[in-house]
Amino acid sequence: MCPPTLQRPVSNDTDAVTDTVFHQANEALIITDAHNRVTHVNPAFTHLTGYLPEDIRGKTPDAFSILAQDNDTSAVLVQEELRRHGQCKTRVTYRHRDGELYPGLMSVRGVRNHQGELSHHVAVLADLSVIPAQARHLSREVYFDALTGLPNLQLLTQLIQESMDYVDRNDLRLAICTLDIDFFKKVNDVFGNDIGDVLLSSFSQRISHMLFGDDIMARVGGDEFVLLLHHPVDDDYFRELLAAIRKPLMIEGRSLQLSASLGVTLYPQDAAQGDVLLRHANQAMYRAKQRGRDTWHVFDPEHDRQLQVRNEQRQRFHDAIREDELRLHYQPQVDMHSGEVVGVEALVRWQHPREGLLSPAAFLPVIEATWLEVDLGEWVLDAALQQLVQWQKEDIALPISVNISPTHLLDDRFSRRLGEMLADYPQVSPGMLKLEVLESAALHDIEAALETMAYCQALGISFAIDDFGTGFSSLTHMRRLPVSLIKIDQSFVRDMLTDLDDMAIVESVIYMANRFSRPMLAEGVETLNHARALIALGCPLAQGYGIARPMPPAAMAPWLVDWQEREEWLTLATMPEP
Ligand code: C2E
Ligand code: MG
Ligand code: MG
Repeated sequence: MCPPTLQRPVSNDTDAVTDTVFHQANEALIITDAHNRVTHVNPAFTHLTGYLPEDIRGKTPDAFSILAQDNDTSAVLVQEELRRHGQCKTRVTYRHRDGELYPGLMSVRGVRNHQGELSHHVAVLADLSVIPAQARHLSREVYFDALTGLPNLQLLTQLIQESMDYVDRNDLRLAICTLDIDFFKKVNDVFGNDIGDVLLSSFSQRISHMLFGDDIMARVGGDEFVLLLHHPVDDDYFRELLAAIRKPLMIEGRSLQLSASLGVTLYPQDAAQGDVLLRHANQAMYRAKQRGRDTWHVFDPEHDRQLQVRNEQRQRFHDAIREDELRLHYQPQVDMHSGEVVGVEALVRWQHPREGLLSPAAFLPVIEATWLEVDLGEWVLDAALQQLVQWQKEDIALPISVNISPTHLLDDRFSRRLGEMLADYPQVSPGMLKLEVLESAALHDIEAALETMAYCQALGISFAIDDFGTGFSSLTHMRRLPVSLIKIDQSFVRDMLTDLDDMAIVESVIYMANRFSRPMLAEGVETLNHARALIALGCPLAQGYGIARPMPPAAMAPWLVDWQEREEWLTLATMPEP
């Protein structure tokens, strides 16, 4: 092929041959000028596309490429490849004059004149469907939605990749939006599928008009569409898009109104693969649905990254339970009047292979309100029951208090599982196991909590309210919950000697607990002065670093011996205040 000769009249042998080749070639040939306007097409082209030379002379060939009419990424890509490399080969879907779309392969080359300036383009359009009509139809069905004529998911997947490549090469932005019509099922139910189909077509046409040159719209499901937007998008754009969708559509004499929910992710800020981008846009769309529909939501990659980290941490904690990396430490609870050790609280630790012994603050927030709290709780209950068996053998008779998270307590199976676990340890008296529940546990669903607690009480288990005073409904809970101990939160105890407000809270809690005839225990008792003040206020039960820090089970026996030597604590009740 020697395109510059086409500019000249047929004047010699070479030109005659060229002309013959051009006119008799099997492949469709298109020649355009430097501005990409058609100057020549050959009969093979007319045969293939139905367009006569006069139909298209002076027009750009966009009209023959896949998304030529309203959204043509390929055309843009072709231009870009040509500019850079002088040639380009790309799969296209061209539109026949009768409107049908067919697959083809287009090979374009820029032709320069003697001065080195771009003078022409020569394109060869190979028909990928020289194949029977039926097969052509099949290929069309493979890539396009029959109802709307829009690209389907299969083609969209390729188009996203092309768009991403283009955006990468040109340092541009791409918005991937999934659009789902709200309550479309109802439209089908009420008006029938035929009206539903007409509505979908009209809907897609309306959206098409909101798109710019390179934008692409695809239909990927019944009432689900995807837009690839190459122009900058902002809130105003989405507001206008939704407003356009809300305008009534006239369908067979009826005025119907739709709304849609839109999920958006922005590439390359969201630097994911094509299919993941679509998934992210979908996630955002579900958020828009959750937020009441008829709105849009933009996917936040940073938030998603944090969620992933969270999930990995959760998985790691799940493994920790399975790999037996958890430990229980025990903190004694004493009666400061008598010096008697009345029980211990089981406090979980994670013996992390690399990070050492982790306290609950390092991992409980990660599993909060997930099913892992149930797994953890069951592990703790089982470990505490085993410990009771072990201590029984060592003649240590200390009830163990176990912290139960709200999620665990409110789990349907809680009381049944507890009964089964107790049955696994028949040598343990249920009275040796106590459960500490946070006020918030009951706050969430007090009726369910009451039911579970009643069942557990029937098994012989008693309850304490933990961190009392930190919730919103302390009084209600004190009145309604069947608890045999109220634990005054350590945050009030810690500063009660210096902070008048905290002292007032501690006094009030003790006063109320006495009025309701509920025993109480002060947490966070760090000094003898705290202890004296609490005894004076009428709260003799205590737990805190001043008495003992939480310790591994093996340390309990030596501590119990040592405790008998702690004169200053054992004589507290009888000593006058300093
Ligand atoms: P909590 O149930 O109120 O436990 C008391 C916490 O206060 C423990 O922290 C204990 O070490 C600490 N503590 C005790 N005395 C003092 C003191 O005098 N001063 C100070 N500053 N702190 C004191 P830990 O072991 O870090 O536990 C923190 C929280 O984690 C617990 O608060 C409880 O809500 C939760 N937790 C611990 N173990 C478990 C468990 O097995 N299951 C569940 N669901 N939660 C647990
Ligand atoms: Mg506790
Ligand atoms: Mg507490």
